[in-house]
Amino acid sequence: MKCKLCGSQNHKKREGSVRDNKNLEIFECCDCGLVFLSEDIIDDNFYELSNMHESFDFLKWRKQTNEDDTRRFNFIKNSIVNKEILDFGSGNGGFLKQAQTLAKDVCGVELEKAVKPYYEKENIELYSSLDQCNKQFDIITSFHVIEHIKEPLEILEKLKEKLKENGKLIIEVPNANDALLTIYESEAFSNFTYWSCHLYLYTQHTLSILAKQAGLKVEFIKHIQRYPLSNHLYWLSKNKPGGHEKWDNFLDSDQLTKAYESQLASLGATDTLMASFTL
Ligand SMILES: [Zn+2]
Repeated sequence: MKCKLCGSQNHKKREGSVRDNKNLEIFECCDCGLVFLSEDIIDDNFYELSNMHESFDFLKWRKQTNEDDTRRFNFIKNSIVNKEILDFGSGNGGFLKQAQTLAKDVCGVELEKAVKPYYEKENIELYSSLDQCNKQFDIITSFHVIEHIKEPLEILEKLKEKLKENGKLIIEVPNANDALLTIYESEAFSNFTYWSCHLYLYTQHTLSILAKQAGLKVEFIKHIQRYPLSNHLYWLSKNKPGGHEKWDNFLDSDQLTKAYESQLASLGATDTLMASFTL
């Protein structure tokens, strides 16, 4: 199997298994470090029919993403005032709902059909595919979407065409070098995090190669830690998720959380990458 990003034939098998399909293997390119699955078995139909959720409960979903939506909004809010925004893979629209309060105009692209009435209710313009949208934007965002895409280069090139001259493309993806995988080597976490929907996992290095191949300039790629120390210690002690809800009250202080994030960032081992690309 050839690496999609650099064309190398050399890859090694990564430890762990894919949580929803035990037949899939996880590979890492020995040359560029791209992490990819041995097969892609998901098609657009899967997302259109809400198969990403166990059951479709809009309000519950909104609640689950609220913290991330708010973090992303706070990160970007100073640059969206009076601007035209597109969120590609906009999910339940939680980020756009917040962005709507400052931006001139917001719209989303989302395959999932069940979200449509909710966008109508909140007066957020919605497209079911990028090809339907003929506008250009000041800011295009895409949060935890690019890792789901079979032809990421094609999509980045399409998104680039939709940027205005001084436009920015802001992308967030999971980091392939999450400390739980690469430093602590938590077997339980690896069996939990690899998922047949995540076809590729990127690092700072591979994400910047992808952007350059699409003809974009890398303004920055920042390491972000979504989960605090309590979550990591809980994985290591109990082999389970959710430690940030069980142990946060006595463990996580703002100071510790910030220090832990910057320590992981210095090792390239946070759980998340946030990138800004320009023309
Ligand atoms: Zn490669």
